[in-house]
Amino acid sequence: MSAVPQAALQRAPVINDSPAVRLRDVTVRFTTERGVVTALERVSLTIPHGGFLTLLGPSGCGKSTLLRVVSDLIPSSAGEVEVLGTTALAARARRDIGFVFQDASLLAWRTALENVQLPLEVGGGGKRRGARDAHELLAMVGLAGWENAYPHELSGGMRQRVAIARALINDPKLLLMDEPFGALDEITRDRLNEELLRVWENTGATILFVTHSIYEAAFLGQQVMLMAARPGRVREIVPVPLHSPRHIAMRDTPEFVALAANLRTVLESC
Ligand code: ADP
Ligand code: MG
Repeated sequence: MSAVPQAALQRAPVINDSPAVRLRDVTVRFTTERGVVTALERVSLTIPHGGFLTLLGPSGCGKSTLLRVVSDLIPSSAGEVEVLGTTALAARARRDIGFVFQDASLLAWRTALENVQLPLEVGGGGKRRGARDAHELLAMVGLAGWENAYPHELSGGMRQRVAIARALINDPKLLLMDEPFGALDEITRDRLNEELLRVWENTGATILFVTHSIYEAAFLGQQVMLMAARPGRVREIVPVPLHSPRHIAMRDTPEFVALAANLRTVLESC
């Protein structure tokens, strides 16, 4: 994480009553040797505080780019980005954003507990006010008793659980997840999908979750945003009418089957 000039933070206004994330006509272009790539074209979306939005679309439609813009890892070329009532830069600098990637990227020489605590050491060390307890987080993701295990002693699903606990250590208000379960077997993925919903209910965090699985998108999201590629753009935002708490068995209900079929139809027309 790069250092952020204090002046930039002081200038960043905090807008009360704003949604957790608001993008207005956001365009991102990359200049490459082969010309200009429009990764996102005029993307607009709103996620309320405590909401769960899933981004669903084929490879290359700009899903990762969108997460990078929301976390200020890349700038937008045009449009407005508002995160937690301020700029993406200020939200990230306040450590209000947690990130989970497909690859858990744990440090091999640190235990599960030490990996979860790692973000506390970034940027000067010392326990940040408001930081959560790493033991409690590991228990919340189902890893009580595994605190002292090293990554090579954990399964892929357990490593992703550690990555989720690590992303929650600074008690972020916004959790960005980029295909976090994409490399896992189906049974583990189903279990983690259910567990993630419990974590979401427990923490009250807003979640923006990227996937290319129709079932995962529909099962997790309160809304599913369907995207199309070349250029990356929003096709449709579809509300999910499933009640809480959700369980994997709900995927066999007629409502869910109809929803998944509808999402597939939209994706195929992209
Ligand atoms: P997704 O995550 O949906 O697979 P990405 O956001 O990674 O899609 O990429 C969207 C498009 O932007 C792709 O065409 C990709 O090649 C291009 N792209 C992404 N990052 C860069 C970059 N840093 N430089 C050039 N092109 C990029
Ligand atoms: Mg991606």
